[in-house]
Amino acid sequence: MLEIKVVALAGGVGGAKLVDGLSRILPSDSLTVIVNTGDDFDHLGLRICPDLDTVCYMLAGLANLTTGWGRKAETWNALQSLAELGGPAWFRLGDRDLGTHLERTRLLAKGYALSEVTQKFCEVWGIAPHVLPMSDDQIPTMVQSDEGELAFQDYFVKRKCQPRVTGFYFAGIESAQPSPGVQQSLSEAEIVLICPSNPWVSIDPILAVPGIKEVILDRAKRKQVIAVSPIIAGAAVKGPAAKMYLEMGINPSAASVAQHYGSQDMGGLLNGYVFDHLDAGQDQEITGLGLATLVTNTLMKTLEDRMRLAEQVIDFGKKLLDGNV
Ligand code: GDP
Repeated sequence: MLEIKVVALAGGVGGAKLVDGLSRILPSDSLTVIVNTGDDFDHLGLRICPDLDTVCYMLAGLANLTTGWGRKAETWNALQSLAELGGPAWFRLGDRDLGTHLERTRLLAKGYALSEVTQKFCEVWGIAPHVLPMSDDQIPTMVQSDEGELAFQDYFVKRKCQPRVTGFYFAGIESAQPSPGVQQSLSEAEIVLICPSNPWVSIDPILAVPGIKEVILDRAKRKQVIAVSPIIAGAAVKGPAAKMYLEMGINPSAASVAQHYGSQDMGGLLNGYVFDHLDAGQDQEITGLGLATLVTNTLMKTLEDRMRLAEQVIDFGKKLLDGNV
């Protein structure tokens, strides 16, 4: 196995798939995953953390790989009886999944931090990598749109991403802090990997937590920052990322994502960029941004895909660390 310190920044679906691949090729002590919590919300009196749960269910082998969210072998009795009573059933919560939210909510109410609850769940589920929420503070992502301001899940699930977005903000981010372990893992990382997650609403919230971007940019220790494009041939594999780019007046492309992370706002965060064969024509544009590139098959349909992409990305990172690209 490869002995190298890797920190992955991840949202839900795309992030979880690559993280699963990484967890299978890296020793457990080598991998830390920092997960977006901007999608978290309170619903039916429960704290729901969609991205954390997607990543953890995937790493625990409990994920529903067809939907990309929720648990496998799920049943829907509670949701059905809720709907029969006229309750809010627009956010689908399966019976097994509900157990997670019930116990998380109970522990949070007792005073445990989200990072402590996550660690406990990971121990029970036998998850080896360190999984850290980006923050223990609540930092809800707000979507600004032609229909006004919407809480993220109202936009994403209730309104099925139909409103046209004009911007985003992360409420309370100024006074938020990274959760324990985030800064240390990033400062010790040799490879920081930005997973193929939605740049606007999965990765930007993580990078916006005060201190996180700064420690990634601190190159006192040798470190390579690599992103994998969530956009393939102008489209998102799943979700609204491409639609968001268009509505923000930007062409959705692999190069646009590279520009996003490489922009001045981000302090020129990236060293390396991984994108799909189908976008090979954009290589010159991307290397023109000063980035080393790896062009490969980035669509992860199977476990083999997830492991192969993880291996290629880590190999690319090692070459960058050795100055061999
Ligand atoms: P969410 O919070 O559940 O929406 O999850 P993410 O932000 O992690 O995932 C959504 C993003 O992942 C979308 O922009 C997809 O295009 C991207 N994505 C999903 N599956 C794949 C894949 O197999 N390959 C790549 N390159 N991107 C993917």
